[in-house]
Amino acid sequence: MSYRVVNPYNGELIKEFPAATDEEVEQALTDANNFYQQAKEQPIEQRAEQLAALADEFTKRADYYANFLTANMGKLISEARGEVKKTVAFARYYVENGAAALVDQDYTAMAGRKAHLEFSSIGAVVAVEPWNFPYTQVMRVFAPNFILGNPVILKHASIVPECAQAFDDACKAAGLPTGAFKNIFATYDQVNQMIGDPRVQGVALTGSEKAGELIAAEAGHNLKKSTMELGGTDVCIVLNDADLKKAVAGAVSGRLRNAGQACTSAKRYLVQSGIYDEFLTAIKKEFAKYQPGDPLNEKTTLAPLSSKSAQQNLQKQIKAVLDGGAKVLWGDPTAVEGPGAFFKPLIISGMTYDNPMYDHELFGPVAQLYKVDDEKGIVELANHSNYGLGGAIYSENLDKARKLASKIETGQIAVNQPLSSLPELPFGGIKKSGYGRELSNLGIREFANIKTVLG
Ligand code: NAP
Repeated sequence: MSYRVVNPYNGELIKEFPAATDEEVEQALTDANNFYQQAKEQPIEQRAEQLAALADEFTKRADYYANFLTANMGKLISEARGEVKKTVAFARYYVENGAAALVDQDYTAMAGRKAHLEFSSIGAVVAVEPWNFPYTQVMRVFAPNFILGNPVILKHASIVPECAQAFDDACKAAGLPTGAFKNIFATYDQVNQMIGDPRVQGVALTGSEKAGELIAAEAGHNLKKSTMELGGTDVCIVLNDADLKKAVAGAVSGRLRNAGQACTSAKRYLVQSGIYDEFLTAIKKEFAKYQPGDPLNEKTTLAPLSSKSAQQNLQKQIKAVLDGGAKVLWGDPTAVEGPGAFFKPLIISGMTYDNPMYDHELFGPVAQLYKVDDEKGIVELANHSNYGLGGAIYSENLDKARKLASKIETGQIAVNQPLSSLPELPFGGIKKSGYGRELSNLGIREFANIKTVLG
């Protein structure tokens, strides 16, 4: 198993990291367990101060941390700085609100008898994380668990090892206690070994459906609590009475940010017939503004995909989409040659339920457009999916939009704005998009012992 940084802009090998030895894995588990035991005796406020120091470290050296994102997975440098800021925001949310979410909760419904819930730590959590948001995804798991007193052992995606190492280094620079966080360049077998170890009591995966099936099975086999943050085919619904400008801005940024590689990207545009032509004209114009280039150049608007294999995989998927009868409405589906992992934006239509790629996640700058007559058709199409992660609805009639939102089978949905993960709000999916919630007061309780105390 190799952990390698290959710059997706020019194909140059930057650095390779050896896989962890079994001794390193054992040391990580021992340190994690020591932290778990010590944290039980430590006031939460001390950990809040330490987490604030980690947020300060990311803030002080934001450009240093941002550069690893661009070099490892090709993110535009402006987006990389934005990710570092968001990483800080996630940490600060738990600095300020973590303890309050863990205060005992009284149960008063029983006449003459008292009971309360306690929220306490359970042990180490193994976090298996993806390359598309290399710091925020890790902080979403680390910050709440650190406040709770659960150590986190990270197995990051093999193409972003410098980001994984940088997060670990940031924890050291901030003076976090040994064992609270450890990055391990683990093999899949070592991940399974850790899941089976009694010192590990939780597994948090963010990744693809396939990884979800395997890791959830391993967690289930060992009776370990797990959360699964998986993929999606989110809808962006534009009703006849939408503010066109707002809808177009949300639809385009919702699809093309991070070069289209976000779990909650607006992958399917469902547009009502009365506004369809105007919407199509406007998005073509906006898509044309995205120009590929060096992601370190501030003027570049379209970054490469994360790797050559991501590019080749998407190219294969698009061939299957078109062979299955769908059409390119805008853009050029021919492959981009050269060392960079670029992929030209596309707008496609004519995806039918029998297309072999219908309901497959297209992880890149590809929008699917559907013309829909009425709300019944919108609900049927939106819910005709095995996924249910996010979504967005554009309509100037808020009441109507919120009623429609209630009918969409999804874990979260935004009205008149693209969906964005916010520290204050629960984030997660249903169906094959996974289970469990990250962020907010719910995220910190996922790996808590919710203990009932009667009397
Ligand atoms: P991936 O291939 O599933 O990889 C995710 C992580 O799982 C990586 O660290 C990977 O390691 C690891 N992994 C895969 N199979 C494993 C196994 N059998 N045992 C142990 N570890 C295993 O996904 P990705 O391509 O990195 O990320 C993109 C996917 O993540 C998309 O589907 C996206 O929608 C989803 N995502 C979901 C959310 C959410 O919050 N719901 C957020 C972001 C991304 P290697 O790199 O070493 O294979």
